[in-house]
Amino acid sequence: MPLKLHDTLSREKRVFEPAQAERVTMYVCGPTVYNHAHIGNARPAVVFDVLFRLLQRLYPEREVVYARNITDVDDKINQKAAEEGVEIGVITERYTDIYHSDLDALGCLRPTVEPRATAHMAEMIALIEAMLADGTAYVADGEVLFDVEGYDAGTGRYGALSNRSLSDMVAGARVEVAQNKRHAADFVLWKPSKPAEPAWDGPRDPATGQPLPGRPGWHIECSAMSEKVLGLPFDIHGGGLDLIFPHHTNEIAQSCAAHGLATNTDFARYWMHNGFLTMDAEKMSKSLGNVSLITELLERQPGEVLRWALLSAHYRGPLDWTDQLVDQARKNLDRLYGALKRARDVGGISDSAPPQPLLDALSDDLNSPAAMAVLFDAAGAVERALNDGEVETAAARAGELLAGGALMGLLQQDPDAWFEGGADDGFKAQVEALLEARAAARAAKDWGEADRIRDELTALNVVVMDGPTGATWRRG
Ligand code: AMP
Ligand code: ZN
Repeated sequence: MPLKLHDTLSREKRVFEPAQAERVTMYVCGPTVYNHAHIGNARPAVVFDVLFRLLQRLYPEREVVYARNITDVDDKINQKAAEEGVEIGVITERYTDIYHSDLDALGCLRPTVEPRATAHMAEMIALIEAMLADGTAYVADGEVLFDVEGYDAGTGRYGALSNRSLSDMVAGARVEVAQNKRHAADFVLWKPSKPAEPAWDGPRDPATGQPLPGRPGWHIECSAMSEKVLGLPFDIHGGGLDLIFPHHTNEIAQSCAAHGLATNTDFARYWMHNGFLTMDAEKMSKSLGNVSLITELLERQPGEVLRWALLSAHYRGPLDWTDQLVDQARKNLDRLYGALKRARDVGGISDSAPPQPLLDALSDDLNSPAAMAVLFDAAGAVERALNDGEVETAAARAGELLAGGALMGLLQQDPDAWFEGGADDGFKAQVEALLEARAAARAAKDWGEADRIRDELTALNVVVMDGPTGATWRRG
Protein backbone atom coordinates (compact mmCIF):
# COMPACT_ATOMS: atom_id res chain seq x y z
CA MET A 1 0.00 0.00 0.00
CA PRO A 2 1.48 3.41 -0.94
CA LEU A 3 1.98 5.98 1.79
CA LYS A 4 -1.01 8.31 2.03
CA LEU A 5 -1.05 11.44 4.16
CA HIS A 6 -3.85 13.84 4.96
CA ASP A 7 -2.89 17.21 3.58
CA THR A 8 -4.40 20.25 5.32
CA LEU A 9 -3.96 22.44 2.22
CA SER A 10 -5.92 20.21 -0.17
CA ARG A 11 -8.13 18.84 2.66
CA GLU A 12 -7.78 15.27 1.47
CA LYS A 13 -5.69 12.16 1.92
CA ARG A 14 -3.10 12.16 -0.83
CA VAL A 15 -0.63 9.57 -2.04
CA PHE A 16 2.73 10.85 -0.88
CA GLU A 17 5.20 11.63 -3.66
CA PRO A 18 8.35 13.49 -2.66
CA ALA A 19 9.71 16.23 -4.92
CA GLN A 20 12.75 14.03 -5.56
CA ALA A 21 12.18 10.29 -5.99
CA GLU A 22 14.73 9.08 -3.42
CA ARG A 23 14.86 11.94 -0.95
CA VAL A 24 12.31 13.12 1.59
CA THR A 25 12.40 16.42 3.47
CA MET A 26 10.25 17.27 6.48
CA TYR A 27 10.07 20.34 8.70
CA VAL A 28 8.23 20.43 12.02
CA CYS A 29 7.89 23.56 14.14
CA GLY A 30 9.80 23.06 17.35
CA PRO A 31 9.65 24.58 20.81
CA THR A 32 10.18 28.11 22.03
CA VAL A 33 12.71 27.38 24.74
CA TYR A 34 11.69 29.40 27.80
CA ASN A 35 10.14 26.79 30.11
CA HIS A 36 9.24 23.11 30.46
CA ALA A 37 7.25 21.48 27.67
CA HIS A 38 3.88 19.92 28.53
CA ILE A 39 2.54 16.61 27.31
CA GLY A 40 0.47 18.42 24.63
CA ASN A 41 3.71 19.74 23.16
CA ALA A 42 4.99 16.15 23.09
CA ARG A 43 2.17 15.06 20.79
CA PRO A 44 3.59 16.55 17.56
CA ALA A 45 7.09 15.40 18.56
CA VAL A 46 5.93 11.78 18.98
CA VAL A 47 3.60 11.75 15.97
CA PHE A 48 6.23 13.11 13.59
CA ASP A 49 8.81 10.78 15.11
CA VAL A 50 6.65 7.84 13.99
CA LEU A 51 6.39 9.39 10.52
CA PHE A 52 10.18 9.89 10.48
CA ARG A 53 10.70 6.20 11.35
CA LEU A 54 8.19 5.11 8.70
CA LEU A 55 9.81 7.29 6.02
CA GLN A 56 13.21 5.86 6.94
CA ARG A 57 11.79 2.42 6.29
CA LEU A 58 10.13 3.36 2.98
CA TYR A 59 13.01 5.44 1.56
CA PRO A 60 16.79 5.17 1.79
CA GLU A 61 17.36 5.90 5.47
CA ARG A 62 20.00 8.57 5.02
CA GLU A 63 17.93 10.39 2.41
CA VAL A 64 15.20 11.25 4.88
CA VAL A 65 15.94 14.69 6.29
CA TYR A 66 13.89 15.74 9.31
CA ALA A 67 14.33 19.30 10.54
CA ARG A 68 12.82 20.60 13.77
CA ASN A 69 13.79 24.10 14.81
CA ILE A 70 14.55 25.66 18.14
CA THR A 71 12.97 29.09 18.56
CA ASP A 72 15.54 30.90 20.68
CA VAL A 73 14.44 34.49 19.96
CA ASP A 74 11.13 35.44 21.54
CA ASP A 75 9.57 37.93 23.94
CA LYS A 76 8.83 35.17 26.46
CA ILE A 77 12.49 34.16 26.53
CA ASN A 78 13.55 37.77 27.15
CA GLN A 79 11.02 38.06 29.95
CA LYS A 80 12.18 34.85 31.63
CA ALA A 81 15.82 35.94 31.45
CA ALA A 82 14.93 39.31 32.98
CA GLU A 83 12.96 37.62 35.78
CA GLU A 84 15.90 35.41 36.69
CA GLY A 85 18.50 38.10 36.06
CA VAL A 86 20.52 35.86 33.74
CA GLU A 87 21.71 36.02 30.14
CA ILE A 88 19.21 34.89 27.51
CA GLY A 89 21.57 32.10 26.46
CA VAL A 90 21.33 30.58 29.95
CA ILE A 91 17.56 30.24 29.54
CA THR A 92 17.58 28.92 25.97
CA GLU A 93 20.34 26.40 26.68
CA ARG A 94 18.70 25.12 29.86
CA TYR A 95 15.30 24.54 28.24
CA THR A 96 16.76 23.12 25.04
CA ASP A 97 18.57 20.51 27.16
CA ILE A 98 15.40 19.70 29.11
CA TYR A 99 13.39 19.41 25.88
CA HIS A 100 15.96 16.97 24.49
CA SER A 101 16.04 14.79 27.57
CA ASP A 102 12.22 14.77 27.83
CA LEU A 103 11.87 13.64 24.22
CA ASP A 104 14.68 11.09 24.55
CA ALA A 105 12.69 9.56 27.40
CA LEU A 106 9.63 9.45 25.14
CA GLY A 107 11.63 7.41 22.63
CA CYS A 108 11.89 10.14 19.99
CA LEU A 109 14.84 9.99 17.63
CA ARG A 110 16.74 13.24 17.33
CA PRO A 111 15.85 15.05 14.10
CA THR A 112 18.50 15.14 11.38
CA VAL A 113 18.94 18.89 11.83
CA GLU A 114 17.86 21.30 14.56
CA PRO A 115 18.30 24.82 13.25
CA ARG A 116 18.28 27.68 15.75
CA ALA A 117 16.73 31.02 14.96
CA THR A 118 19.70 33.01 16.30
CA ALA A 119 21.97 31.28 13.77
CA HIS A 120 19.78 32.29 10.80
CA MET A 121 19.50 36.06 11.07
CA ALA A 122 21.20 36.69 7.70
CA GLU A 123 18.69 34.40 5.95
CA MET A 124 15.72 36.12 7.63
CA ILE A 125 17.03 39.55 6.71
CA ALA A 126 17.57 38.49 3.08
CA LEU A 127 13.95 37.28 2.83
CA ILE A 128 12.64 40.51 4.36
CA GLU A 129 14.75 42.66 2.03
CA ALA A 130 13.40 40.71 -0.96
CA MET A 131 9.83 41.45 0.21
CA LEU A 132 10.66 45.14 0.76
CA ALA A 133 12.16 45.29 -2.72
CA ASP A 134 9.05 44.00 -4.44
CA GLY A 135 6.59 45.85 -2.23
CA THR A 136 4.90 43.01 -0.31
CA ALA A 137 6.49 44.38 2.87
CA TYR A 138 6.64 47.97 4.13
CA VAL A 139 8.36 49.90 6.88
CA ALA A 140 6.27 51.70 9.50
CA ASP A 141 7.57 53.14 12.79
CA GLY A 142 10.75 51.09 12.66
CA GLU A 143 8.82 47.85 12.05
CA VAL A 144 8.65 45.87 8.86
CA LEU A 145 5.15 44.60 8.15
CA PHE A 146 3.79 42.17 5.59
CA ASP A 147 1.13 43.60 3.27
CA VAL A 148 -1.45 40.81 3.39
CA GLU A 149 -4.06 42.42 1.14
CA GLY A 150 -1.51 43.39 -1.49
CA TYR A 151 -0.18 39.85 -1.49
CA ASP A 152 -3.58 38.14 -1.61
CA ALA A 153 -4.93 40.55 -4.22
CA GLY A 154 -8.29 38.84 -4.18
CA THR A 155 -6.89 35.43 -5.18
CA GLY A 156 -7.74 33.77 -1.85
CA ARG A 157 -4.31 32.22 -1.62
CA TYR A 158 -3.57 33.78 1.77
CA GLY A 159 -6.51 31.94 3.35
CA ALA A 160 -6.06 28.69 1.43
CA LEU A 161 -4.41 26.70 4.24
CA SER A 162 -7.08 27.55 6.80
CA ASN A 163 -9.82 27.48 4.14
CA ARG A 164 -11.16 30.91 5.00
CA SER A 165 -11.48 34.26 3.31
CA LEU A 166 -9.25 37.09 4.37
CA SER A 167 -12.13 39.00 5.98
CA ASP A 168 -13.27 35.95 7.98
CA MET A 169 -9.75 35.42 9.22
CA VAL A 170 -9.40 38.99 10.40
CA ALA A 171 -12.78 38.87 12.12
CA GLY A 172 -12.07 35.52 13.78
CA ALA A 173 -8.53 36.10 14.97
CA ARG A 174 -7.39 38.34 17.74
CA VAL A 175 -5.03 40.21 15.48
CA GLU A 176 -3.23 43.05 17.16
CA VAL A 177 -4.69 46.25 15.80
CA ALA A 178 -1.94 48.78 15.43
CA GLN A 179 -1.96 52.28 14.00
CA ASN A 180 0.93 51.58 11.69
CA LYS A 181 -0.75 48.67 9.86
CA ARG A 182 -2.24 49.23 6.41
CA HIS A 183 -4.59 46.30 6.96
CA ALA A 184 -5.68 44.59 10.18
CA ALA A 185 -4.23 41.22 9.06
CA ASP A 186 -0.74 42.60 8.35
CA PHE A 187 1.85 40.94 10.51
CA VAL A 188 5.31 41.77 11.81
CA LEU A 189 8.40 40.57 9.97
CA TRP A 190 10.83 42.64 11.98
CA LYS A 191 10.48 44.96 14.97
CA PRO A 192 12.67 47.16 17.13
CA SER A 193 14.00 45.65 20.36
CA LYS A 194 13.52 47.28 23.73
CA PRO A 195 16.64 48.42 25.58
CA ALA A 196 18.51 45.42 27.09
CA GLU A 197 16.83 43.03 24.63
CA PRO A 198 18.89 41.32 21.95
CA ALA A 199 19.06 43.24 18.69
CA TRP A 200 20.57 42.65 15.28
CA ASP A 201 21.34 44.97 12.39
CA GLY A 202 18.19 44.27 10.44
CA PRO A 203 16.98 44.67 6.87
CA ARG A 204 17.75 47.97 5.16
CA ASP A 205 14.99 50.53 5.04
CA PRO A 206 14.53 51.21 1.31
CA ALA A 207 13.82 54.89 2.10
CA THR A 208 17.07 55.59 3.96
CA GLY A 209 19.36 52.71 2.96
CA GLN A 210 20.04 52.19 6.69
CA PRO A 211 19.61 48.91 8.57
CA LEU A 212 16.68 48.76 10.97
CA PRO A 213 18.00 47.48 14.31
CA GLY A 214 15.77 44.96 16.06
CA ARG A 215 14.67 41.34 15.94
CA PRO A 216 12.57 39.06 13.77
CA GLY A 217 8.91 38.14 14.10
CA TRP A 218 8.20 34.51 14.87
CA HIS A 219 6.84 33.46 11.47
CA ILE A 220 9.84 34.61 9.43
CA GLU A 221 12.11 32.41 11.54
CA CYS A 222 10.56 29.21 10.19
CA SER A 223 10.45 30.49 6.59
CA ALA A 224 14.18 31.18 6.73
CA MET A 225 15.25 28.04 8.58
CA SER A 226 13.16 25.56 6.57
CA GLU A 227 14.46 26.92 3.28
CA LYS A 228 18.06 27.03 4.51
CA VAL A 229 18.23 23.46 5.78
CA LEU A 230 15.88 21.71 3.31
CA GLY A 231 15.65 23.82 0.14
CA LEU A 232 12.39 24.70 -1.65
CA PRO A 233 10.00 23.15 -2.09
CA PHE A 234 10.34 20.70 0.76
CA ASP A 235 7.98 17.77 1.12
CA ILE A 236 6.20 17.81 4.46
CA HIS A 237 5.52 20.62 6.91
CA GLY A 238 4.07 19.64 10.25
CA GLY A 239 2.92 20.99 13.59
CA GLY A 240 -0.15 21.24 15.81
CA LEU A 241 -3.56 22.40 14.61
CA ASP A 242 -3.11 25.76 16.34
CA LEU A 243 -0.27 26.64 13.98
CA ILE A 244 -2.40 26.61 10.79
CA PHE A 245 -3.29 30.25 11.36
CA PRO A 246 -1.48 32.51 11.69
CA HIS A 247 1.92 30.81 11.86
CA HIS A 248 1.86 28.45 8.86
CA THR A 249 -0.38 30.71 6.80
CA ASN A 250 2.20 33.47 7.24
CA GLU A 251 5.15 31.19 6.53
CA ILE A 252 3.66 30.33 3.13
CA ALA A 253 2.86 33.96 2.35
CA GLN A 254 6.34 35.22 3.24
CA SER A 255 8.24 32.52 1.41
CA CYS A 256 6.09 32.76 -1.71
CA ALA A 257 6.28 36.57 -1.69
CA ALA A 258 10.05 36.72 -1.14
CA HIS A 259 10.73 34.29 -3.99
CA GLY A 260 7.90 35.21 -6.32
CA LEU A 261 6.51 31.65 -6.03
CA ALA A 262 3.20 31.31 -7.83
CA THR A 263 1.47 28.53 -5.91
CA ASN A 264 1.35 27.64 -2.24
CA THR A 265 2.82 24.18 -2.80
CA ASP A 266 6.00 25.79 -4.16
CA PHE A 267 6.94 26.27 -0.50
CA ALA A 268 5.88 22.97 1.13
CA ARG A 269 4.09 20.16 -0.70
CA TYR A 270 2.12 18.46 2.11
CA TRP A 271 0.83 20.05 5.33
CA MET A 272 0.14 17.86 8.34
CA HIS A 273 -1.42 18.98 11.62
CA ASN A 274 -1.96 16.99 14.78
CA GLY A 275 -5.11 17.46 16.84
CA PHE A 276 -5.13 18.83 20.37
CA LEU A 277 -4.35 17.02 23.50
CA THR A 278 -7.06 18.07 25.92
CA MET A 279 -7.79 17.89 29.61
CA ASP A 280 -11.48 17.90 30.55
CA ALA A 281 -12.22 18.72 26.91
CA GLU A 282 -10.08 21.87 26.92
CA LYS A 283 -6.85 22.26 24.96
CA MET A 284 -3.86 21.79 27.22
CA SER A 285 -2.01 25.08 27.11
CA LYS A 286 0.26 27.21 29.19
CA SER A 287 -2.07 30.17 28.93
CA LEU A 288 -5.02 28.21 30.37
CA GLY A 289 -2.76 26.74 33.03
CA ASN A 290 -4.13 23.18 32.63
CA VAL A 291 -0.78 21.57 31.88
CA SER A 292 0.98 18.36 32.87
CA LEU A 293 4.69 18.80 32.30
CA ILE A 294 6.56 15.95 30.60
CA THR A 295 9.30 16.16 33.22
CA GLU A 296 6.79 15.66 36.05
CA LEU A 297 4.93 12.83 34.33
CA LEU A 298 8.25 11.05 33.81
CA GLU A 299 8.78 10.96 37.58
CA ARG A 300 5.75 8.67 37.85
CA GLN A 301 5.69 6.79 34.54
CA PRO A 302 8.19 5.31 32.14
CA GLY A 303 8.44 7.43 28.98
CA GLU A 304 7.21 4.49 26.95
CA VAL A 305 3.86 4.54 28.77
CA LEU A 306 3.42 8.20 27.87
CA ARG A 307 4.42 7.47 24.28
CA TRP A 308 1.88 4.64 24.03
CA ALA A 309 -0.83 6.91 25.45
CA LEU A 310 0.02 9.64 22.91
CA LEU A 311 -0.20 7.20 20.01
CA SER A 312 -3.35 5.48 21.19
CA ALA A 313 -5.59 7.91 19.26
CA HIS A 314 -5.29 8.86 15.61
CA TYR A 315 -3.07 11.94 15.36
CA ARG A 316 -5.67 14.11 13.66
CA GLY A 317 -8.33 13.68 16.33
CA PRO A 318 -8.39 15.08 19.84
CA LEU A 319 -6.89 13.06 22.68
CA ASP A 320 -8.13 13.55 26.23
CA TRP A 321 -5.35 13.10 28.79
CA THR A 322 -6.64 11.16 31.82
CA ASP A 323 -5.28 8.83 34.50
CA GLN A 324 -7.22 5.96 32.89
CA LEU A 325 -5.49 6.60 29.55
CA VAL A 326 -2.11 6.28 31.22
CA ASP A 327 -3.13 3.20 33.26
CA GLN A 328 -4.44 1.50 30.16
CA ALA A 329 -1.22 2.30 28.28
CA ARG A 330 0.80 0.59 30.99
CA LYS A 331 -1.47 -2.47 30.98
CA ASN A 332 -1.20 -2.75 27.20
CA LEU A 333 2.56 -2.59 27.34
CA ASP A 334 2.61 -5.18 30.16
CA ARG A 335 0.66 -7.53 27.94
CA LEU A 336 2.98 -7.09 24.93
CA TYR A 337 6.19 -7.22 26.98
CA GLY A 338 4.75 -10.32 28.69
CA ALA A 339 4.42 -12.07 25.32
CA LEU A 340 7.96 -11.06 24.36
CA LYS A 341 9.31 -12.27 27.70
CA ARG A 342 7.65 -15.68 27.47
CA ALA A 343 8.75 -16.18 23.87
CA ARG A 344 12.30 -15.21 24.74
CA ASP A 345 12.41 -17.45 27.83
CA VAL A 346 11.08 -20.45 25.91
CA GLY A 347 12.55 -20.44 22.41
CA GLY A 348 13.98 -17.00 21.70
CA ILE A 349 12.87 -14.24 19.32
CA SER A 350 13.62 -14.40 15.58
CA ASP A 351 14.87 -11.54 13.44
CA SER A 352 11.82 -10.46 11.46
CA ALA A 353 10.36 -7.64 9.44
CA PRO A 354 7.36 -5.73 10.80
CA PRO A 355 4.01 -7.33 9.91
CA GLN A 356 2.61 -6.03 6.63
CA PRO A 357 -0.75 -5.03 8.19
CA LEU A 358 1.15 -2.76 10.58
CA LEU A 359 2.99 -1.11 7.68
CA ASP A 360 -0.34 -0.74 5.89
CA ALA A 361 -1.95 0.86 8.95
CA LEU A 362 0.84 3.41 9.35
CA SER A 363 0.89 4.04 5.59
CA ASP A 364 -2.79 4.94 5.81
CA ASP A 365 -2.25 8.45 7.17
CA LEU A 366 -0.37 7.18 10.22
CA ASN A 367 -3.17 5.12 11.72
CA SER A 368 -1.40 4.32 14.98
CA PRO A 369 -4.42 2.76 16.79
CA ALA A 370 -4.81 0.27 13.92
CA ALA A 371 -1.06 -0.41 14.07
CA MET A 372 -1.35 -1.09 17.82
CA ALA A 373 -4.14 -3.58 17.12
CA VAL A 374 -1.69 -5.44 14.86
CA LEU A 375 0.79 -5.57 17.75
CA PHE A 376 -1.92 -7.18 19.88
CA ASP A 377 -2.65 -9.69 17.13
CA ALA A 378 1.03 -10.61 17.05
CA ALA A 379 1.13 -10.99 20.85
CA GLY A 380 -1.98 -13.18 20.71
CA ALA A 381 -0.31 -15.35 18.08
CA VAL A 382 2.77 -15.67 20.31
CA GLU A 383 0.67 -16.82 23.28
CA ARG A 384 -1.31 -19.34 21.20
CA ALA A 385 1.85 -20.80 19.70
CA LEU A 386 3.44 -21.11 23.14
CA ASN A 387 0.35 -22.81 24.55
CA ASP A 388 0.42 -25.23 21.61
CA GLY A 389 4.14 -25.88 22.11
CA GLU A 390 4.98 -24.40 18.69
CA VAL A 391 8.19 -22.76 19.77
CA GLU A 392 9.41 -21.74 16.31
CA THR A 393 6.13 -20.09 15.40
CA ALA A 394 6.19 -18.25 18.71
CA ALA A 395 9.73 -17.01 17.99
CA ALA A 396 8.73 -15.80 14.52
CA ARG A 397 5.60 -13.99 15.73
CA ALA A 398 7.57 -12.45 18.61
CA GLY A 399 10.11 -11.22 16.06
CA GLU A 400 7.33 -9.51 14.12
CA LEU A 401 6.01 -7.98 17.33
CA LEU A 402 9.46 -6.62 18.15
CA ALA A 403 10.04 -5.24 14.63
CA GLY A 404 6.57 -3.70 14.52
CA GLY A 405 7.23 -2.12 17.89
CA ALA A 406 10.54 -0.70 16.63
CA LEU A 407 8.78 1.04 13.77
CA MET A 408 6.62 2.84 16.33
CA GLY A 409 9.46 3.44 18.81
CA LEU A 410 7.94 0.91 21.25
CA LEU A 411 8.87 -2.42 22.91
CA GLN A 412 12.62 -2.09 22.55
CA GLN A 413 13.52 -2.58 26.22
CA ASP A 414 14.60 -5.89 27.62
CA PRO A 415 11.31 -7.35 28.91
CA ASP A 416 12.84 -8.02 32.33
CA ALA A 417 14.00 -4.43 32.57
CA TRP A 418 10.48 -3.30 31.61
CA PHE A 419 8.86 -5.30 34.39
CA GLU A 420 11.52 -4.45 36.94
CA GLY A 421 11.12 -0.73 36.18
CA GLY A 422 14.76 0.18 36.85
CA ALA A 423 15.01 -1.68 40.18
CA ASP A 424 18.54 -2.12 41.54
CA ASP A 425 20.11 -5.55 42.16
CA GLY A 426 19.49 -5.51 45.93
CA PHE A 427 15.79 -4.83 45.41
CA LYS A 428 15.53 -7.53 42.74
CA ALA A 429 17.19 -10.09 45.04
CA GLN A 430 14.76 -9.16 47.83
CA VAL A 431 11.75 -9.60 45.54
CA GLU A 432 13.03 -12.89 44.11
CA ALA A 433 13.59 -14.24 47.63
CA LEU A 434 10.03 -13.30 48.64
CA LEU A 435 8.63 -14.92 45.48
CA GLU A 436 10.51 -18.13 46.24
CA ALA A 437 9.26 -18.14 49.82
CA ARG A 438 5.73 -17.56 48.54
CA ALA A 439 6.03 -20.43 46.03
CA ALA A 440 7.27 -22.69 48.85
CA ALA A 441 4.37 -21.63 51.11
CA ARG A 442 1.88 -22.33 48.34
CA ALA A 443 3.46 -25.72 47.61
CA ALA A 444 3.04 -26.52 51.33
CA LYS A 445 -0.59 -25.23 51.10
CA ASP A 446 0.23 -22.67 53.81
CA TRP A 447 -2.17 -20.07 52.34
CA GLY A 448 -1.88 -17.72 55.32
CA GLU A 449 1.87 -17.44 54.86
CA ALA A 450 1.52 -17.06 51.06
CA ASP A 451 -0.94 -14.20 51.57
CA ARG A 452 1.29 -12.56 54.15
CA ILE A 453 4.21 -12.60 51.71
CA ARG A 454 2.03 -11.21 48.97
CA ASP A 455 1.08 -8.31 51.26
CA GLU A 456 4.75 -7.72 51.92
CA LEU A 457 5.37 -7.55 48.16
CA THR A 458 2.45 -5.17 47.75
CA ALA A 459 3.98 -2.94 50.41
CA LEU A 460 7.13 -2.85 48.28
CA ASN A 461 4.94 -1.68 45.37
CA VAL A 462 5.49 -4.98 43.56
CA VAL A 463 2.68 -6.50 41.50
CA VAL A 464 2.84 -10.29 41.24
CA MET A 465 1.57 -11.88 38.03
CA ASP A 466 0.94 -15.62 38.27
CA GLY A 467 1.31 -17.41 34.95
CA PRO A 468 1.68 -20.93 33.55
CA THR A 469 5.46 -20.78 33.87
CA GLY A 470 5.43 -19.43 37.45
CA ALA A 471 5.11 -15.97 38.92
CA THR A 472 6.62 -12.85 37.39
CA TRP A 473 6.53 -9.38 38.86
CA ARG A 474 6.71 -5.75 38.05
CA ARG A 475 6.83 -2.49 39.88
CA GLY A 476 3.40 -1.00 40.48
P1 AMP B 1 4.21 25.92 21.38
O1 AMP B 1 5.36 25.80 22.34
O2 AMP B 1 2.93 26.36 22.01
O3 AMP B 1 4.57 26.72 20.14
O4 AMP B 1 3.87 24.44 20.86
C1 AMP B 1 4.85 23.57 20.31
C2 AMP B 1 4.13 22.53 19.48
O5 AMP B 1 3.16 21.82 20.28
C3 AMP B 1 3.32 23.11 18.31
O6 AMP B 1 3.41 22.21 17.20
C4 AMP B 1 1.92 23.17 18.85
O7 AMP B 1 0.97 23.14 17.83
C5 AMP B 1 1.88 21.91 19.69
N1 AMP B 1 0.87 21.96 20.76
C6 AMP B 1 0.76 22.89 21.74
N2 AMP B 1 -0.26 22.59 22.58
C7 AMP B 1 -0.80 21.42 22.12
C8 AMP B 1 -1.87 20.58 22.57
N3 AMP B 1 -2.59 20.85 23.66
N4 AMP B 1 -2.14 19.46 21.87
C9 AMP B 1 -1.42 19.15 20.77
N5 AMP B 1 -0.40 19.88 20.30
C10 AMP B 1 -0.08 21.01 20.96
ZN1 ZN C 1 7.27 27.30 12.66
